[in-house]
Amino acid sequence: MNFSELGLVPELLRAVAEKGYDTPTPIQAKAIPAVLSGRDVLAGAQTGTGKTAGFVLPLLQKLDSAQGRAPRALVLSPTRELTAQIAENARVYGRYKNLRTLVVFGGVSERPQIDGLRQGCDLLIATPGRLLDLVEQKACDLSAVRHLVLDEADRMLDMGFIHAIRRIIRLLPAERQNLMFSATYSDDIRDLASRMLRNPITVEVASRNTTAERVEQVAFKVPKEHKRHLLVHLFESGAAGEGSWHQALVFTRTKHGANRLAQQLESAGIRAAAIHGNKSQAARVRALSDFKAGKIAALVATEVASRGLDIKELPQVVNYELPNVPEDYVHRIGRTARAGATGRAVSLVSADEAGLLRDIERTMRQSVPVLATPPFKIVESRPAAAASAPARGEVNRPNASPGNRAGSAPRRAGHGGRPGSRSHHSGPSRRNRSAF
Ligand code: AMP
Repeated sequence: MNFSELGLVPELLRAVAEKGYDTPTPIQAKAIPAVLSGRDVLAGAQTGTGKTAGFVLPLLQKLDSAQGRAPRALVLSPTRELTAQIAENARVYGRYKNLRTLVVFGGVSERPQIDGLRQGCDLLIATPGRLLDLVEQKACDLSAVRHLVLDEADRMLDMGFIHAIRRIIRLLPAERQNLMFSATYSDDIRDLASRMLRNPITVEVASRNTTAERVEQVAFKVPKEHKRHLLVHLFESGAAGEGSWHQALVFTRTKHGANRLAQQLESAGIRAAAIHGNKSQAARVRALSDFKAGKIAALVATEVASRGLDIKELPQVVNYELPNVPEDYVHRIGRTARAGATGRAVSLVSADEAGLLRDIERTMRQSVPVLATPPFKIVESRPAAAASAPARGEVNRPNASPGNRAGSAPRRAGHGGRPGSRSHHSGPSRRNRSAF
């Protein structure tokens, strides 16, 4: 199967070819003809399956060329990052079409968005809250919308957007095409689908376990207070004999925890940045682009911020803390192994999280192997007054000797470079790995 068999026009085929896609992903092969047919569509697809092109390409085709000022297609998405990424995709796929894409989300000034709406757009991609704000200010006219997409509908409901979504839907013309994408089917999703969709074509590409199956998952048991030391060790030596990590996306449960961990990694010589909802949009964009450019090794993220992050060739995801909701684990590890690639997810599990790991395993109907925790150094950060004294280091395993105490020499950014400690460590940790 190739893209030209899906009924797409040459302008779109050209853009897709230039983007480097050879074959449609399964969701694209099913969703594109379904959307082109004009019917409502209910698609069960996780992020990473190529679902964005699955609705953006046929929508661009249906919109055809620029017309009027009010948007004719509206995509609602849960987070700023996902919204921005859908828009970026729409601009790339639509580069040979004369169409205007506009994106609106909260956390940034409304002014440019209001100006953009005034100038007119064909495709509007929005988070629900900001969109309603703009509608209330009469800056946005939704009366011309003929195509509505709810992307990551399950996540939008989890984030409490149901009332905003219902209000937005009431503002739309009754005569329209509706598309709903969701990774999971809760009762609430089914309820929303049955109210919103008329006689939909159902597109299901794979069970929701597919991502989980593609991602190699491992867990390490580690006391809560030692997690950061183990994480530093993993950056330096890897989790299972693969050598130092180039980059990893690290999940914490709280914004505060993300900030603190990013600082701790930085002071251990690992370039890190935090990305979460309290950061300004500019800081989030900068952290993401620094990460994509390889300038930082660890991107420390909270759940919400992770939605829609599209980072190519991301080999490692770390669950620094397990999420309370098993589905979130699946979403998190879906950040690696995108579009058919393989990847790995490493979870650091403290004793109080054992129950969460069991819930996750039950949900995925798959067990997560717990590997022997490798030896790692515990390097307490130095009190400011003793800045010139060497940091005290100890090893959490037998074989600790003065020779493996951590020195205070600054380490290279990124990975590697813990002078004097490597040779000692490679021995025991390798022996340990072989027993995994
Ligand atoms: P999505 O699930 O839409 O977030 O897409 C996940 C990733 O797959 C993105 O990096 C896309 O650029 C990429 N992708 C989408 N469609 C294809 C395709 N047909 N071939 C290769 N990569 C793709």
